[in-house]
Amino acid sequence: MKEETMDPGLNRRGFIAAASAAGASFCVRTGSASEDKPALLGGQPIRREPFPSWPVVGGGAEKALLDVLHSGKWYRGDGKRVMEFEAAFAEMIGVRYCVAVANGTSALHTSLAALGVGPGDEVIVPPYTFIATVNAVLLQYALPIFVDTDPDTFQIDARKVEAAMTERTAAIIPVHIGGAPADLDTILAAAGKRNVPVIEDACQAHLAEWRNRRVGSWGATGCFSFQVSKHINSGEGGAVTTNDADLAARCRGFHNHFRGLSEIGEIAKLSGRSCNLRMTEFQGALLKAQMAKAEEQASIREQNARYLTGLLKEMPGIRPMAMHEGVTRSAYHFFMFRYQKEAFEGLSRPRFIQALSAEGIPAFGGYGGPLNKQPFLRAALASRAFRKIFPKEVLDGWEERNQCPVNDRLCDEAVWLMQRLLLGTRRDMDQIAEAIRKIRTHAAALAKA
Ligand SMILES: *Cc1c(COP(=O)(O)O)cnc(C)c1O
Repeated sequence: MKEETMDPGLNRRGFIAAASAAGASFCVRTGSASEDKPALLGGQPIRREPFPSWPVVGGGAEKALLDVLHSGKWYRGDGKRVMEFEAAFAEMIGVRYCVAVANGTSALHTSLAALGVGPGDEVIVPPYTFIATVNAVLLQYALPIFVDTDPDTFQIDARKVEAAMTERTAAIIPVHIGGAPADLDTILAAAGKRNVPVIEDACQAHLAEWRNRRVGSWGATGCFSFQVSKHINSGEGGAVTTNDADLAARCRGFHNHFRGLSEIGEIAKLSGRSCNLRMTEFQGALLKAQMAKAEEQASIREQNARYLTGLLKEMPGIRPMAMHEGVTRSAYHFFMFRYQKEAFEGLSRPRFIQALSAEGIPAFGGYGGPLNKQPFLRAALASRAFRKIFPKEVLDGWEERNQCPVNDRLCDEAVWLMQRLLLGTRRDMDQIAEAIRKIRTHAAALAKA
C-alpha cells in the first residue's frame, strides 16, 4: 500500500481549524463548482490546499528524545521509557498487561508463539487485511484459513467463522479493519464453543471501542502497530495487550530470549523458542509523547468521518462502510467506501480515483488483489516445510476451501481516503463530497476521455 506524500513538513492547521469548527458555518460550494470542467480534463480543482500531514509532532517529543539520547540509556534494559510506555498503554486500552515489541507483525507473531500455535495448526483470518496478519501465521508454519468479508462492514464475516473451524483450528485473528471493530460478540461466541483463543489484530484500531470497551482488551491478546502510518507511532513499533498474567509472561519471554525481566517465570520457557523483538528507549519515549494527542485526534477523525458518511451515503454509487451494531467508537484508520461504476456512466474505479485525486482529494484503491489469491501463499503451501507438515489433501483442498467471492468484489470496488484527511475541518469534508459530485456530473466525459 502506498501513502502519497503531497504535504511536506508538519502542519497543525487542521487541528486548530477543527477545534474551532463547532458552530461555525461554512460556505459550501455547490452548483457552479460542479459545472466546472473536471480537473483531470483541464478544469480548476475543487481544492488546492494540502490536507493535514502525518505524522504530527507534539507532546514534548523533542525533549523526550533528546533526554534519551543524552542519557546514554538507549536499551530498554537500561532505562525506564519502554516500561513507562507499557504501563500507560495498558491503561489506555484497559488491560492489565502490555508487552512492547518491535512492530505490529512481531506483536502477532509473539501472540501466536505465546499461545503455542504452530506447525499443523490452522488459523482463521480475514482476506481484507494487511499482509502481516497472514505472514505471522505462516512464520509459525500454521495454515491460514480465510473467512470471507461482510459486504456492508468490510470486516470478517463473523457469521461464517464457526463453519470454517476444524479440529485443527488453533486461533482466530479478527482484524479491526480501517479502525472499525469486527463483530466481536459473534467471533468470541464461536471461539468459546471450541475453546479457541482470539487474537485481535488492532493494528489500525487504537482507541476504537466495542460496547464501550476498547478493542485489544477482548481477545486473549490484542496486537497493535506503531508504524508511522498508525495513529500512535514511533516510525516502527508494536505491542501485545492482555489480561492474562501467564500469557503476558510468555509474550515477554518470547520477545526477549527469555532474558532479563524478573517477572518471567519458568512457565514462560515452556515453548522453548524465542527471539529478540525488543523496543528501544527512543521508541518508548516517542510513543509516550504521541499518546498525548491520540484522544483529541481520534475525536476529530470520528466527528469528520460521521459527517462525511452523512454527506456520501445518499449519493448514488457511493456506499460508505457500515458499522456493526456493537461498535461504540471507530478509529477511522481509513475512510472506506464502495464505488459502483454503474452509477457513474461506467467510469472505471482507477479513473475515478485519478479524477478525485486531480480535484485535490488524494484517494486509493486500498488492498489491490485479494490476499487469499496472492502467489506468495501458493509458494508457502508448496514449500518443503509445509509439505512435510500438512497432509496432502489439506494442501490440495486449500484453494477451493479459501474462496472469498464477496471479498473479491470489494477489492474491485473499494476506495480509501487516508486517516489524515479526517484531521482537518468540516469544510474539508464538504469539499470531498463536492469533488465526488462533480466527477459524477462529468462521469460520461471522464469515461470517454
Ligand atoms: C500495520 C498493520 C500490521 C503490521 O504492523 P507493522 O507494525 O507494520 O508490522 C498488521 N496488521 C494490520 C491490519 C496492519 O494495518
